[in-house]
Amino acid sequence: MRICRFNDDRLGVVEGDKVYDVTKALEILPAHRYPLPRFDPMIAHLDALRKKIAELLPSAPVRALAEMRLLSPVANPGKVIGAPVNYRKHLLEARADVELHQQNQVQEIQRIGLFLKATSSVVGPSESVAIAHPERRNDHEAELTVIIGTPGRNIARADAYSHVAGYCIGLDMTIRGPEERSLRKSIDTFTVLGPWLVTADEIEDAGNIDFSLTVNGEPRQKANTRDLILSVPELIEFASRFYTLHPGDVIMTGTPEGVGRVVPGDIIHTEFSGIGAMTVAVISAS
Ligand code: MN
Repeated sequence: MRICRFNDDRLGVVEGDKVYDVTKALEILPAHRYPLPRFDPMIAHLDALRKKIAELLPSAPVRALAEMRLLSPVANPGKVIGAPVNYRKHLLEARADVELHQQNQVQEIQRIGLFLKATSSVVGPSESVAIAHPERRNDHEAELTVIIGTPGRNIARADAYSHVAGYCIGLDMTIRGPEERSLRKSIDTFTVLGPWLVTADEIEDAGNIDFSLTVNGEPRQKANTRDLILSVPELIEFASRFYTLHPGDVIMTGTPEGVGRVVPGDIIHTEFSGIGAMTVAVISAS
């Protein structure tokens, strides 16, 4: 099932070029009171939600997908976990380019571990990437993104897939420079998630997804998740040794070679096999 959030926080099921409006299904979610939970309520109740969606679907209003304003499929991720240089060719690219390595030694992910992006940086594809530092190099990074469904810590890689609710496309937007990753990658709008959540049962093998990214139609990144240094199960194992993973937590699995600059006016287009296509405009921050 492909589940999207659209327009004014509506819930939809995507089939082809149509969206079925199943917003009413959200009524089954418990009303949380202060203090709010550390997890995303929609993802935490995804199984029950899917049952309700299935009931509503035959009589759901149908809308044209192209006319909808797509939001992040996870409204309230507790954390956004990033994987630095998790493709071999991107590691070599980063070591060869001074703008990327900034005189710092680029280390393997097994040594330097993971990083966090501020959840305030999360947007959906229709909200655009806003460039707040136009004098700096602002880069795109296309990444398969994992959405955690079942909580856990110290998750063994053999059990890791049972903790996955689904997948989406992620753009880990980045300013190049000497500062810590968490600063450079947490600017408002610098985590684009979309265009929808594809439930895990629809993805046969997260370790074999072809994907590509173009800017204004010009090819920039093209890879397959089989070339990840740490695979999806290994990333879940690694992350859960340090953080309890909660429903709605997001793991961006890292980007392949071909990262490059974007400027206001550019259009970023990504395609991931089994997930779909996502188009994101780059604008100037107001
Ligand atoms: Mn990245």
